[in-house]
Amino acid sequence: MKKAYEKPVINPVRVGLANKMSGKAYAYSRVRDNIDGVPVEELVEKYGSPLFVFSERKLREQFRRFRRAFETRYPNVEFTWSYKTNYLKAICAILHQEGETAEVVSEFEYEKARRLGIPGNQIVFNGPYKPKEALRTAILEGARINADTFEELSDIEEIAKELGQKVKVGIRINMDTGIQPQWSRFGFNLESGQAEDAVKRIAASEWLELNGLHCHMGTFILEPRAYEVEVRKMVNFAYHIEDNYGFKIEYLDIGGGLPSKNRLKGIYLPPEVAVPDIEEYAERITTALLESLRPGDFPKLIIEAGRAIVDEAGYLITTVYATKRLPNGLKGYILDAGVNILFTAFWYNFKVEIDRPVHGAPEPSVLYGPLCMNIDVINDLEYLPPLPRGTRLILSPVGAYNVTQWMQFIRYRPNVVLIDTEGKVHLIREAENIEDIERRERLPEHLKLV
Ligand SMILES: *Cc1c(COP(=O)(O)O)cnc(C)c1O
Repeated sequence: MKKAYEKPVINPVRVGLANKMSGKAYAYSRVRDNIDGVPVEELVEKYGSPLFVFSERKLREQFRRFRRAFETRYPNVEFTWSYKTNYLKAICAILHQEGETAEVVSEFEYEKARRLGIPGNQIVFNGPYKPKEALRTAILEGARINADTFEELSDIEEIAKELGQKVKVGIRINMDTGIQPQWSRFGFNLESGQAEDAVKRIAASEWLELNGLHCHMGTFILEPRAYEVEVRKMVNFAYHIEDNYGFKIEYLDIGGGLPSKNRLKGIYLPPEVAVPDIEEYAERITTALLESLRPGDFPKLIIEAGRAIVDEAGYLITTVYATKRLPNGLKGYILDAGVNILFTAFWYNFKVEIDRPVHGAPEPSVLYGPLCMNIDVINDLEYLPPLPRGTRLILSPVGAYNVTQWMQFIRYRPNVVLIDTEGKVHLIREAENIEDIERRERLPEHLKLV
């Protein structure tokens, strides 16, 4: 095939381009009074604060850009939606409408995908712990299974024997791609020979057939070249398997791990500078593939990107409840949303926008949540003008991992709404109440007070 791409350019370290003494002009006190044309105040009046808001337009746009980046460079790509990144039905449904299959890492997620109408043969089943019953269902329904351990291979073999049918299986491998620390706890290690042992284990069984390789090396990987290493090692290993064991490797699943344009704590540069564009990842991944594959061979490239697709489509509206001067001179704000609903606050200093222009010199400020926990800090340093009580802050990107990893600790989880492409607002997850929380509790008869 004629190469329809140019040699990639290695990006210089871009610290040199940053204007270091200019304060944090890129990040603070931006005014945003609407999301996709819907006034922030109207959203809060109707749905309360805090409030998660998802933009259907941004989600679809982001996915389409992603798909374009890969499909214009390689002829055989499957995108599979990482459920654990955000498994709200409405979000998954949008991505399924866009053509994504489902990537699940537990029987709960598997069930969720099935209930949404995704057939088993459009599910990729990953994860280090797959109960045997879940494996049986996945096998019967034709899901792609990437085995993580020798025990899992034995379970699959037993099920295949019981069913009297040979079962196709992929294996998850881990490897050194230069990323530190290396995730070595998932799947079989390549360099130590463990991955080849797994291949031998499969080859020795009359019930198993190896048909794919999977590798998810980490998350928020800022170095596109790591994927290049990953892909080359996967292709080499695939050919080693095909030549020595007679299996056909039908797919190479490179996992997820691509970053969103979010501001990682401890990284000085704004995300627009620090985070490479998706096209750069696509270029390196597909170039490495096309250079290492044998002519005419185009195994399916599976991509499980999570945060890179949904993070920027999510906002959180939160409200200033109180203000205090801290002993170190900083300004402290107490908000109505904390790490209970913003798990990724442990990773990021989100972009902060305010709903109205505020006059006054920006001061170094800390954003605290409403919890009785010292670690309940949303942004640890933000230059903000003096915000009156009741000011709405719009935090972003918060679309990835928050509405799955949030916890019900001392407060209810709030409403989640979706603004569709016509600007219409839909409630996609109702706020919790006392009934939801207590529904599963039982009070023994002898402990009843009333
Ligand atoms: C979490 C996960 C993903 C998605 O990861 P992102 O970093 O959000 O892209 C993909 N594949 C597997 C196996 C995962 O565990």
